[in-house]
Amino acid sequence: MTNPLPSTADRLKQKLPHPLKRLADLAQNYWWCWADGRLSLFRDINPDEWHRCNHNPVSMLESASYERLTQLAINPAYIQQVKSLAEQFDHYMAGQNTWASQAAPQLSKEHPVAYFCAEFGIHESLPIYSGGLGVLAGDHLKSASDLGIPLVGIGLLYRQGYFRQRLNRHGWQEDYYVDSPFENMPLELVQSQGRPLTVEVEIRQRVIRAQVWQVRVGRVNLYLLDTNREDNDPIDRWLTGHLYGGNQDTRIAQEVLLGIGGVRVLEALRLSPSVYHLNEGHAAFALLELARLEVQRTGKSFYDIEASVRDRCVFTTHTPVPAGHDAFSPDLMDSNFAHYWPQMGLSREQFLAIGARRVGDPWEPFSMTVLALRLCRTANGVSELHGQVSRKMWSILYPQHELENVPIGHITNGVHTRTWTAPLMADLYTQYLGEDWANYLNNSGWDKVDQIPAEELWWRHQVLKDRLVAFTRSQLKQARQDRGEDPGSIAAAEQLLDPKALTIGFARRFSSYKRGNLLLHNPERALQIFGNSQRPVQILFAGKAHPADEEGKRIIQRLIEWCRNSAVRHRIAFIENYDMFTARKLVQGVDVWLNNPRRPLEASGTSGQKVCFNGGINCSVLDGWWCEGYQVGPDGKGLNGWAIGEDAHTSNQELQDKIDAESLYRLLEQEIIPLYYDQDANGVPHGWVQKMKASIRTNAPAFNTDRMLADYVAQLYLRKATTGLQPVSAGFPS
Ligand SMILES: *Cc1c(COP(=O)(O)O)cnc(C)c1O
Repeated sequence: MTNPLPSTADRLKQKLPHPLKRLADLAQNYWWCWADGRLSLFRDINPDEWHRCNHNPVSMLESASYERLTQLAINPAYIQQVKSLAEQFDHYMAGQNTWASQAAPQLSKEHPVAYFCAEFGIHESLPIYSGGLGVLAGDHLKSASDLGIPLVGIGLLYRQGYFRQRLNRHGWQEDYYVDSPFENMPLELVQSQGRPLTVEVEIRQRVIRAQVWQVRVGRVNLYLLDTNREDNDPIDRWLTGHLYGGNQDTRIAQEVLLGIGGVRVLEALRLSPSVYHLNEGHAAFALLELARLEVQRTGKSFYDIEASVRDRCVFTTHTPVPAGHDAFSPDLMDSNFAHYWPQMGLSREQFLAIGARRVGDPWEPFSMTVLALRLCRTANGVSELHGQVSRKMWSILYPQHELENVPIGHITNGVHTRTWTAPLMADLYTQYLGEDWANYLNNSGWDKVDQIPAEELWWRHQVLKDRLVAFTRSQLKQARQDRGEDPGSIAAAEQLLDPKALTIGFARRFSSYKRGNLLLHNPERALQIFGNSQRPVQILFAGKAHPADEEGKRIIQRLIEWCRNSAVRHRIAFIENYDMFTARKLVQGVDVWLNNPRRPLEASGTSGQKVCFNGGINCSVLDGWWCEGYQVGPDGKGLNGWAIGEDAHTSNQELQDKIDAESLYRLLEQEIIPLYYDQDANGVPHGWVQKMKASIRTNAPAFNTDRMLADYVAQLYLRKATTGLQPVSAGFPS
């Protein structure tokens, strides 16, 4: 029913000279972005344009000149590259003997896992993500594809995505939005009988029509709903305008579209999923739609079919603070669902009770997490610690259970190995670990990292650091030009930073719990560390504050003010508009990755995991995944990184900030800086390289999405013999 020859691919195929025709297929499937030998494929067509179009291969091919394509079509090396990648691609897509075909034969193309998420971070050229949740979802799709797990993604296609960030002369964040040219992107409008396939959803008392776009991520398809159609009310056309923009009213409308619309898309595509996986609560209205369909189909009551919905659905929670969970006022629920509860055979009170933490309170908001916990067979947090925190937070829903039996387990997050490993490192792993180094099924190979000669590992790491410094300089130069700074300041951007200096990275959302300026807790001590010319230390920052988060914007502003101090101004940089491209550059080039959230507010965190695959070393508060990753060596010190604040925990925030800042300064002064600058005559720091190897060897096998998906299959996707509110076994203390 989907159009087999989408117009974009047709257009590209017609345009491309014969030897290059397969580029059209490669451009239309995001598989290329983690393939070996991907780097120069599209870039070589026109490096400036490649940069300008944000690495969007479809747009790259559309804009390529006839002359350039003709030139490439007679270049034997280029033709060979296209041919070889196309062969690899065909082989990958046709693969039958996958991990899942053995491990999960119950899942099939007709009965896949349906994976719902409000955002997907697949690549910078598809800007429909804001941060960790989206990137995790993107990595989830990629590993599902690699392992051959039948899975389809369901999300929304935001015309302007998440906001873009620019800092003004006062260091204050300014937000702006950019339209995405969908027709020029690796997307296809799903068709049915020659017309766009649509689904209808009643939202804000109007029937809204959404069309559906398909994104190919290797063997996995991602379907994205889009309300920007002429037959919709102008306000409703903007429903899929922005990710996490707008007020509660927009929010609930988007979530109705994602959950209810998403189930309808699956029906329209004639897919009948064996499992519905709600990645975070945003899509939990899907559960209501599944219940409604079941009530209508069977004529039974909601209470009779509840268990059959629960049987098919699983839920992952990501937020360790109660305020972080979406909840809608009874008013908002009335205006969106008054037509809906009768179709479920429920009264208003019965309906609202499904999402109420405390049943019976007329002002109790409708919580998406409560809804999901009530109507899903099993639930999980995203690290061991987060599992514990979640069980405590939601124990109110399980008064009959002991705390440790609250049925929320955990599956620790990971990252997609090939996406985040620099090709320069990947080559090294191929050489020393073997061709299959990234393959989860041959996962014992990481111990061989110890056989890599120190010089070899260090040399490659330095090249990546050089590139990061060059990238940062050009970003800052451009930003200074755009702000109209004076010529001296613009020129100075070219001298910023020192590729040989110890380089720390800190990039993530700027919200207050992440304490983006903890390093400045004692400004004088920080100046001593970063102003030291004998043993130079430099730090790169990046990250956005949510447009409504004034506190987050103030933290950025304070950092920028500090960057201007003449003693350190050449050692500090803030890279604007953090995205997946900047993230790759950073995690592949830094020596140390710094993370200092307020414990236990970091559910998992994944950026530190990306660093490990590239030989970077974590220096982090023992929160989220790092509680599991951090190992102590025989000398009682960190074996594979550093732990800020160790085990000193207090509920006094100010005191905790002080303890953690002191600990961070001490680690830098007494351990990190001395170890880095203990270098031999050739500038190789042998002790440091040992730690790099430990970071790779201990973390890479555990914190990747192949391991994570295998856990999801075993613990969530494969239906257990037991049903109902059974505790999940995920790493559960018994
Ligand atoms: C990985 C990633 C994140 C998540 O980082 P955390 O450490 O989980 O905060 C956010 N944004 C981008 C662009 C990323 O690549």
